[in-house]
Amino acid sequence: MKIEKYKVSDGKDFSLDDFATNDKGGYKNKDEALSDMNKNIEKIESEQDKLYAQNQKSVLLIIQAMDAAGKDGLIKHVMTGLNPQGTQVFSFKQPSAEELDHDFLWRYNKSLPERGRIGIFNRSYYEDVLVVKVHNLIEVNQYPYNKVNDKFWYNRYEHIKNYEKYLYDNGIIPVKIFLNVSKDEQKERFMSRLNDSSKNWKFSIADVKERAYWNEYQKAYQDAISATASEIAPWYIIPADKKWFARLLVSEIFLHILKGMNLEYPQISKEESARLADAKKALEEEK
Ligand code: AMP
Ligand code: MG
Repeated sequence: MKIEKYKVSDGKDFSLDDFATNDKGGYKNKDEALSDMNKNIEKIESEQDKLYAQNQKSVLLIIQAMDAAGKDGLIKHVMTGLNPQGTQVFSFKQPSAEELDHDFLWRYNKSLPERGRIGIFNRSYYEDVLVVKVHNLIEVNQYPYNKVNDKFWYNRYEHIKNYEKYLYDNGIIPVKIFLNVSKDEQKERFMSRLNDSSKNWKFSIADVKERAYWNEYQKAYQDAISATASEIAPWYIIPADKKWFARLLVSEIFLHILKGMNLEYPQISKEESARLADAKKALEEEK
C-alpha cells in the first residue's frame, strides 16, 4: 500500500479538505485488512526487538484526533504483540495545577520514551494549539507578555517545530498521526455509545459540547498541521471512518518508519565473542 498519499511533510499547500475520511485504500473488507495488519504487527515486533536491543534511538508515536475517532482502539489493536517492557503509553488530559505552573512542554518532555523504547502519546502538546486555542485557555500567568494573538500561536507552532527537531536530533523519532473522522461518523459513534450499555462508560456529555465546535477544531487542525509538518516530523492524515482501515494503515506506516531506521542487533567485539565461547565451553563441560 502507498503510504505517501497520506503523508504531509511540507505544510505549505496542505488542505485538510483534500483528505478523505472514508478512504479504504482499495481494501474490500475488514478481514482482508485484518490479515495484512497482523502480518505487519509480526514484523513490527521483530523490529521492536532490534530497537530495544540496540538501545540507542526511540520512536514517539503521537496520536491526535477528534473525540470518538478511535485513538484508544488504535493503540490497543496496533500495539498488541509489542513487548510491553519496550513500550510506554501516556494519555494527556486537562493539565493539573502543577503542570499549568510550568511551561507547556514540561509535562510532555517528562514522558518522552527512553532509548530503545516506543513511546505513545495519546494526545500530546498539540492539544496546546488545539483545545487551548479553540477555547482560548491561556491564562495570564502562563503567558506573561503581550496579548494572545496570531503572533502568539505562530510562535507556539515554531516552538513545537523546533522541539521536534530537537527530539529528532537526539534520536527520538516523532511520528504524528491524525485520525481524520467525519462529523457524521462521530455522531454514529456517539449514538452507539449511548445505545450500547457496554459502551456507555465511553460517553461523556462534554464530547457533545465539543462537537458544537467542530469547525473551529477543523480549522485549528488545519493550521497546526500545516505549520508543523516537516521532513523530520511529518504528519500522517489517516482516513478514520473505517476503524479497520485506520488501524491497518497506521501499522503500515509504523512498520515503514521502523524499517527506515535500519535497526540492527548490536555487534559484539572479538574479545566479547571469545568470552562467550569460553562461557559456552564452561557450560558444556559442567558436571
Ligand atoms: P480523553 O482523551 O477523552 O480522556 O479526554 C481528555 C481531555 O483532556 C480532552 O477533552 C482534551 O481536550 C483535554 N486536554 C488534553 N490536553 C489538554 C491541554 N493541554 N489543555 C486543556 N485540555 C486538554
Ligand atoms: Mg473522550
